[in-house]
Amino acid sequence: ADGAAVPVLVVGTGYGGSVAALRLAEAGIDVHMAEMGQSWDTPGPDGNVFANTTKPDYRSFWLRTRTKQPLSSFLGFPLDKDVPLHTGILDAEDFAGITVYQGRGVGGGSLVNGGMAVTPRRENFPSVLPTVDADEMYGVYYPRANAGLGVAEVDPDWWESTACYQYARVGRKHAQRSGFPFVFVPNVYDWAYMKQEATGAVPKSALAGEVLYGNNHGKKTLRKTYLARAQATGRVTVSPLHRVTDVRPADGGGYTVTLDRLTTTGTVAATKTVTAARVFFAAGSVGTSKLLTRLRATGALPRLNSEIGRGWGDNGNVMCGRANHMWDATGKLQSAMPTAGIDNWSAGGAFAEVAPLPTGIETYASFYLSITRTPHRADFSWNAAANRVDLDWQRSWKQTSIDAAKTIFDKINAKEGTIYRTDLFGANKIWGDHLTYHPLGGAVLDKATDHYGRLHGHSGLYVIDGALIPGCATVNPFVTITALAERNIERIIAADLRT
Ligand code: FAD
Repeated sequence: ADGAAVPVLVVGTGYGGSVAALRLAEAGIDVHMAEMGQSWDTPGPDGNVFANTTKPDYRSFWLRTRTKQPLSSFLGFPLDKDVPLHTGILDAEDFAGITVYQGRGVGGGSLVNGGMAVTPRRENFPSVLPTVDADEMYGVYYPRANAGLGVAEVDPDWWESTACYQYARVGRKHAQRSGFPFVFVPNVYDWAYMKQEATGAVPKSALAGEVLYGNNHGKKTLRKTYLARAQATGRVTVSPLHRVTDVRPADGGGYTVTLDRLTTTGTVAATKTVTAARVFFAAGSVGTSKLLTRLRATGALPRLNSEIGRGWGDNGNVMCGRANHMWDATGKLQSAMPTAGIDNWSAGGAFAEVAPLPTGIETYASFYLSITRTPHRADFSWNAAANRVDLDWQRSWKQTSIDAAKTIFDKINAKEGTIYRTDLFGANKIWGDHLTYHPLGGAVLDKATDHYGRLHGHSGLYVIDGALIPGCATVNPFVTITALAERNIERIIAADLRT
């Protein structure tokens, strides 16, 4: 309510925010969570909460009048279409040199992502979080995060035989014929449910291609794991459609937080303020970086240091497709949940997720999202004239990532006698180099914050999301974001909140 005072306000309900809320509540502290997206608990006119990937509608995009699908065309036909302006689930947020895809709603990115739950190879960890003790992470916090997220491996026998992973088996065959390590990757999807989807016993979700605009059934999003447990404590309240716009020191101590209550067309229905003793920024790498950059530049939080907004990276994301021969059909039924990758990190700086292309028809295409080693880092800055935060990422920086991905796919194409698809990202375009699914950094650990995410300059302010990680996780990032949040909140509760 307007004018309320709360011990802790958490900005955002993604991985970092959900971990913070659960652990604080378990420690006996009342937590209020503000989330600018919808709650996603009410079915639409078709009886489903979420729209299908192949049929985007008003639920699919965050405040856009036209879809901006990551794969923008198919066989030369543009796929984007007009949709009503709505606080939909997937934000395609445009900066000058890159479109950053993010989940919007209670559960953050867990609502829209592929559920791939990857722990980085330990030898790569020093490049992910150079200042963090790897023994602690691999001994305690990665296991804790994997348990909390409900991460599980696919049943290998079922995987070998089910039609819905034919595309992944083709991916394996091509990787292995070219001598690349092929690795299975766990997922948060409920595998028992997926097996029942395959037999037709239950409504289909992953096997109906549901992913980008939400899963109606089998995915264990944060709403089914961390957030469910947090809310079961009775100490956590969540306000959906509430966007935090301002945080500044309050006269009597703590912080005055200003929130806009949004309508589903994105207009401001009301503005409220609450006083919070502590504020956790968990608005995601971009959300947290944008807020802090503006609050520092406009004088609301003047003592934040000059590392705010710096060190942002795209996790080296590039996408590509390959056109297979007729004998390597990838299947018209494809599970939307990826299970595997090609690991050429040590030799070529690329880890390629063997991704689904769930179109419902046979495409003879293999599709990949590569995570690559890249030296490029961008900075956010306050653009006072335009009243917005800019990001100085340059499209040409993706060339390093393309080169790394080519260490895998040029070799596979040569071996198989195949070519790249040129129809998925516009006409005659091989590389999806305009986007990222994995924004990281902008309030980097031990730079903008101390060793546990406490922001420098103002006590009682914390960063606890992907903004802490300096730009690359070497694999898909949410397990690392969760594990780092588990590490930091444990220390913060012990040192700052048990008095
Ligand atoms: P988020 O999960 O982004 O949560 C931030 C939340 O804060 C959002 O709900 C947002 O609406 C809210 N917010 C932002 N600003 C404000 C504000 N001012 N006020 C109130 N609320 C605010 N990662 C993997 O590891 N495996 C995958 O398979 C995978 N697949 C992906 C597929 C797609 C299509 C996308 C987009 C991402 C994928 N990711 C995947 C990435 C993963 O989802 C993100 O890394 C992760 O969600 C980031 O967690 P976070 O806690 O930093 O923030």
